[in-house]
Amino acid sequence: MSENMEKVYDVIVVGSGPAGLTAALYCARAGYETLVLEKYIPGGQMVTSNEIENYPGFPEAVDGFTLTMNMKKQAERFGAKQTYGNVTALRLDDDVKILETEDGTVYRAKSVVLAPGAAPRTLGLPNEDALRGKGVSYCATCDGAFYKDKTVAVIGGGDTAAGDAAFLSAMCKKVYLIHRRDRLRASKSYEKKLDKPNIEIVFDTVTDEILEKDGKVGGLRLRNVKTDEACEIEVNGVFVAVGNVPATDFVRDILDLDENGYFMAGESTKTNVPGVFAAGDCRKKTLRQIVTAAADGAVAAHGVEEYLS
Ligand code: NAP
Repeated sequence: MSENMEKVYDVIVVGSGPAGLTAALYCARAGYETLVLEKYIPGGQMVTSNEIENYPGFPEAVDGFTLTMNMKKQAERFGAKQTYGNVTALRLDDDVKILETEDGTVYRAKSVVLAPGAAPRTLGLPNEDALRGKGVSYCATCDGAFYKDKTVAVIGGGDTAAGDAAFLSAMCKKVYLIHRRDRLRASKSYEKKLDKPNIEIVFDTVTDEILEKDGKVGGLRLRNVKTDEACEIEVNGVFVAVGNVPATDFVRDILDLDENGYFMAGESTKTNVPGVFAAGDCRKKTLRQIVTAAADGAVAAHGVEEYLS
């Protein structure tokens, strides 16, 4: 690790989704010098949501970008600073914790809140990665507009898949929702949104192959898991919405994670290292929502306060 910055923050927050931004708000408001490190763009998964209906305080729903910017501005109002940096190495055992980003910059802090969130799970099909951005997408809100009047498939059966299918149905000619079981996992409120003439739900079906046409997605080879019958459908795009995996690889060898990679931190958000907290979707928990991520951020900030005093 090359060490090139002597400044020691009171707290460094890694990640700027709802957990990270809430932790930053609470820490900064409590008077702690707070730095937020973000890998790409603020907001995490929240920023990719087209319509959020269940975050309290927004009776007419709110889009993820607006909610992200509001949370960011609120934290900044109390003095939280934000910068870009992909944390790749950490030294957490001493009183001053050291974090190094991909570009070699070193940051120091008395305490750390880890809120790296989760990344979309892939299907693991051979050409999936090569066709990413050429018809394969993991974000309907980001890429949906490219498929106006086209035919697309959404793969998955949870709230994200149902929400994506409903969102895409407003601009696409036809939307297939392909789910591996005979029943959706999505909540009733999301299921109701699927009652549209251009949405076709295909149950008990998995995708065996993404078919390529002229270097882009041209179709899917599907298989019914009950009858083993295979078929091909023509689609211009495929939106993969099969859940998320925690973005915790960068701490795999230094903090306790469960078998799926989630932080073994309880409701206190305390990790196995004093002064280091884990908040949001990266933590082992029963309900992963924006509101529970925000709550984790507040609890983590309380932990920081206790630790620093
Ligand atoms: P999820 O609830 O984990 O659902 C993932 C779906 O993908 C499941 O239907 C699962 O099938 C399917 N799946 C998993 N691996 C697969 C594979 N390899 N091939 C095919 N299908 C596969 O994920 P999510 O929908 O992204 O939601 C994550 C969390 O965010 C949930 O807690 C959800 O409630 C929340 N969320 C909330 C909102 C909101 O409230 N505004 C919006 C979106 C998401 P099985 O059903 O067979 O397991």
